[in-house]
Amino acid sequence: MQKGYYGAFGGQFVPELLMPPLEELEEAMARIVRSRNFLTDYAQLLSDYVGRATPLTLCRTLSQEVGFNIWLKREDLAHTGAHKINNTMGQALLAKHMGKPILLAETGAGQHGVATATAAAALGLECVVYMGATDVERQAHNVRRMELLGAEVRPVHSGTKTLKDATNAALRHWIAEQGTTHYCLGSVVGPHPFPELVRDFQTVIGHETRQQSVEKFGGLPDAIVACVGGGSNAIGIFHPFLEDREVRLVGVEAAGEGTPDCYHSASITKGTEGVLHGAKSRLLQTPDGQIMPSHSVAPGLDYPGVGPEHVHLETSGRAEYVSVTDDQALGAFRALCRKEGIIPALESSHALAYVLENIDVFEPGSNVVVNLSGRGDKDLGIIAELDL
Ligand SMILES: *Cc1c(COP(=O)(O)O)cnc(C)c1O
Repeated sequence: MQKGYYGAFGGQFVPELLMPPLEELEEAMARIVRSRNFLTDYAQLLSDYVGRATPLTLCRTLSQEVGFNIWLKREDLAHTGAHKINNTMGQALLAKHMGKPILLAETGAGQHGVATATAAAALGLECVVYMGATDVERQAHNVRRMELLGAEVRPVHSGTKTLKDATNAALRHWIAEQGTTHYCLGSVVGPHPFPELVRDFQTVIGHETRQQSVEKFGGLPDAIVACVGGGSNAIGIFHPFLEDREVRLVGVEAAGEGTPDCYHSASITKGTEGVLHGAKSRLLQTPDGQIMPSHSVAPGLDYPGVGPEHVHLETSGRAEYVSVTDDQALGAFRALCRKEGIIPALESSHALAYVLENIDVFEPGSNVVVNLSGRGDKDLGIIAELDL
């Protein structure tokens, strides 16, 4: 397979100026991330700081209702309340080993910015977060969190004043200050080597799940279900099971309002092939290649692209991809709150919704693991507006 490609997807579709920092990062990955010294440090941070291993929890009431076992992989219990910290701690530690004192990040809804600011504070790095000016206004809480953690939030006033413009600003900064900065990308997207780097840090979810499955029910899960925005929590739990063909892997995208011409975020199931943020993947675009606005009630799924490895897993048939609507996700959100005492993130609610809406496809008595990527406290404003 060609370097940085997953089948026909991935690669490095970037301006020449971005090649030197990408090559430096690739070299550092090979030299540092696989070294014993780094792996020991990282494992210790994951256990003592992030709070891993996260539990595998049986849904006692829902399992009884549906007739098979629904297990939740509890990333909501990781420090800062989601899986994003696995990646930002890994990249912050890498930056430290590379001798770079400053972490750069871009953020839309603010969750990745908070996770990056957290990792930077924990490891004594500076942190600069670029955020579209519109998002800065909409996400005042997360801006305050980042500032409390010592990060500098820079509002970006160009273009649509959202994530895309923040990404461009952060990349410009990285090119200009390569010697002192590391660009901390938030999902398995972007040019090589980012999809591989972020995946490597998130596979801890899948490795733990494998061991816990054997402990709790004496074998591998029959199915693993995860929501897909950029795709990092899903690839993290899928990847250690790729060779186990008997384990069904299901990625769940956001169908938005679910009406024929509505905005949604289902890049794999409803998108077309193209290049976005430096990689060949599938994305939401018009026939002449303009990126279309995406929509989901879950802020973390609201992205017009997806990580290239997922497109490869779909085309090769190893994983299947489906979509659920905002309303279905909200139904699952409510069910988990009321019946299990867990308030899930709206993103994670999409994964659970697929299971609850398709109980006929699972054998009675089988074991289905849902990756509960995050907790829902961050979504209470959205829930309040919807008046549920
Ligand atoms: C950011 C986020 C996601 C989406 O990102 P992926 O890279 O697809 O995992 C999903 N769930 C939660 C809780 C998030 O914060």
